[in-house]
Amino acid sequence: MEIIDGKKTAESIRKELKEKIQTMTIKPHLVVILVGDDPASKIYVNMKERDAEEIGMQGTVIRMAGDTTQEKLEETITNLNNDPEVHGILLQLPIPDQLNEERALDLISPEKDVDGLHDINVGRLHNNKEGLRPCTPSGIIELLDRYHVETEGKYAVVIGRSKLVGKPIARMLEQRQATVTVCHSRTQDLATITKQADIIVVAAGRANLLTGDMVSEGVVVIDVGTNKVDGKLVGDVNFDEVSQKASKITPVPGGVGPMTRAMLLVNTLKAMKLQQ
Ligand code: NAP
Repeated sequence: MEIIDGKKTAESIRKELKEKIQTMTIKPHLVVILVGDDPASKIYVNMKERDAEEIGMQGTVIRMAGDTTQEKLEETITNLNNDPEVHGILLQLPIPDQLNEERALDLISPEKDVDGLHDINVGRLHNNKEGLRPCTPSGIIELLDRYHVETEGKYAVVIGRSKLVGKPIARMLEQRQATVTVCHSRTQDLATITKQADIIVVAAGRANLLTGDMVSEGVVVIDVGTNKVDGKLVGDVNFDEVSQKASKITPVPGGVGPMTRAMLLVNTLKAMKLQQ
């Protein structure tokens, strides 16, 4: 069994990016918008700013009050869209209830949408055209590639159908010639499906959802889930059981999480290139 090390892979990606950026006269600039003072969001936003700066990008956080109006938020986004010195815009989610998330996300210029959530980018992914892809599924594909996991002709099972993870990763795997089944909370007899899989991506947010008896020998398992159990961060996979049978598996922490962060930086550079 091989551990798919997301932390180490993310470090390699950051190193590669840093080397590229050193040769560039104009540095990529990522702007993160934080509305309100959700403690977890504050931590994520600071990490994103630090990640950018560590590799020589410019990172800026725009902090807006929790009672910000839709109009004010949209004005901020429009200004960033029109600013040629800003290459990537990320609206940290969730945003307060009085704000319309969908309208705000769709206002971000598709060429600056480093989260890949704009309808145009979702459409480009769907049609297999160039565009900005969401960070988590991009990070998973990067891990599969760097760990030489063959997808062509393989049977991949994705558990979860969110816009952020399940839907895009299913589409990406299918575009890499896998046969894909998407499971969700109404799926019956999940184990019968997962037992047939060569590759399983679990993104449900349910600790211990995938157990050893649900997988076959040699399966490749990507655990996206992040759950707090007794104050400890765990994934959706029962790692001790499933790792006995898997040929390759991501741990939590240290698997998909660091890759999501690294792919945001990759997307910022890509966004800059798209704008040129
Ligand atoms: P989400 O929007 O809550 O979606 C969860 C999906 O899982 C839904 O499609 C849901 O089905 C399905 N599901 C829930 N319980 C299930 C069950 N018992 N059996 C089968 N399917 C089930 O979550 P998300 O944003 O995709 O995130 C999923 C998990 O990944 C969360 O733990 C999140 O924190 C984590 N995450 C981690 C990263 C990272 O970088 N590590 C990034 C993003 C997300 P329905 O559609 O039927 O409700």
